[in-house]
Amino acid sequence: MSEVYNWQLGRPMSYPHPQAMPQWQFAFVFNTNRCIACQTCTMACKSTWTFSKGQEYMWWNNVETKPYGGYPQSWDVRILELLDEAHRGAGREAVWDQAAGEAAKAPYGVFDGMTIFEAARQQAKREEVALGYEPTDLEWRSPNFYEDTATGSKAARDRLNLDPVTLPEHQTWFFYLQRLCNHCSYPACLAACPRRAIYKRPEDGIVLIDQKRCRGYRKCVAQCPYKKPMFRATTRVSEKCIACYPRIEGKDPLTEGEPMETRCMAACVGKIRMQGMVQVGEDGAWAEDRQHPLYYLVQVEKVALPLYPQFGTQPNGYYIPPRWVPRSYLRQMFGPGADAAVEKYTRPSRELLAVLQLFRASQTMVFRYEIIEGPKVLEMTIGGQPWSMYNDTVVGYSRSGREVARVTVEEPKIERDPKHYNSI
Ligand code: SF4
Ligand code: SF4
Repeated sequence: MSEVYNWQLGRPMSYPHPQAMPQWQFAFVFNTNRCIACQTCTMACKSTWTFSKGQEYMWWNNVETKPYGGYPQSWDVRILELLDEAHRGAGREAVWDQAAGEAAKAPYGVFDGMTIFEAARQQAKREEVALGYEPTDLEWRSPNFYEDTATGSKAARDRLNLDPVTLPEHQTWFFYLQRLCNHCSYPACLAACPRRAIYKRPEDGIVLIDQKRCRGYRKCVAQCPYKKPMFRATTRVSEKCIACYPRIEGKDPLTEGEPMETRCMAACVGKIRMQGMVQVGEDGAWAEDRQHPLYYLVQVEKVALPLYPQFGTQPNGYYIPPRWVPRSYLRQMFGPGADAAVEKYTRPSRELLAVLQLFRASQTMVFRYEIIEGPKVLEMTIGGQPWSMYNDTVVGYSRSGREVARVTVEEPKIERDPKHYNSI
């Protein structure tokens, strides 16, 4: 075991391999507030990578309805239960020390609990490097189980409720959680593989399974806490999201050699997804890059949070949490930054509102943005406090500095020429 630094936990942690960081890291931000569960992302991925024999139940990208849905079924409840059990066995609790966060320069506080790697070590008879389990075939069978199912009794849900539903939290709720491999900085799949068939690319941090080395032991399936490696019965080896690496490498002619967003990101109808590459320092923390949209959302505004950071893999997928969901649920899922993130999103700053317009404005990855200030177009109160909206323009630039997006906060009104009335 080595000691590596996990900036999401605000502390060093045990990991089976020495710290080794890529030059750039594949990362993404999802705005859960905007997802409509159309599954266009899911089908874009499926029709590109997993349409062959033996891949029928393989969904590298999926969108599940929380709190009941999950693919495989109950994946997060199962791993949270295992972690709870390990903490109970060790006579300790898992808590976030937010007061210590400032001194440690940790945005979410310092995690005082065991990660999946530390919990596995603590259980002496365990041979695995990370806490985990292998889902049954039945659990992989229904990727959309519980879609659109809200909390509360069926009777309560069926009753015509004439009372208006108000924020900050709804009594009866659900939300959509978009999921793919997080191309973690400390991948549990990689650590678990006895064949060393899984590797993390130094140029972009993408985690891949070498199909020739894999022998289908399924240790990665069991020990990835997000359950994103999947076993293919026809080839008897495991497969996982490859982050559409030919697009990342700029092989698609559309972006003329510039890194391009993945299929699931580019297809998103709800404009909830933004993907990019961020630079990381030797300790794994992100290098300062103030005008990078992902750096701004994750490190400056802190409106986008990692999914289950307490697992300890330092995932590179970040989520703007849903505004209407009980905060205790969000804290468990996204860590202690959830309350502040919801506040920031509910009453967005001028800069945040502009940067949010960049989501799905270009298939070419945006590496830098600039804001051109526009006039004030709205004054109102949000949560009893004054708030103004400005029609700013946000401009996005590719890796080479080429302008690839230019969007205003207010959508332009386009009047259809009368000669096109009644035409499609
Ligand atoms: S999400 Fe799972 S499969 Fe993807 S890199 Fe992390 S541990 Fe590996
Ligand atoms: S395409 Fe976008 S809006 Fe539709 S389900 Fe996927 S993430 Fe949600």
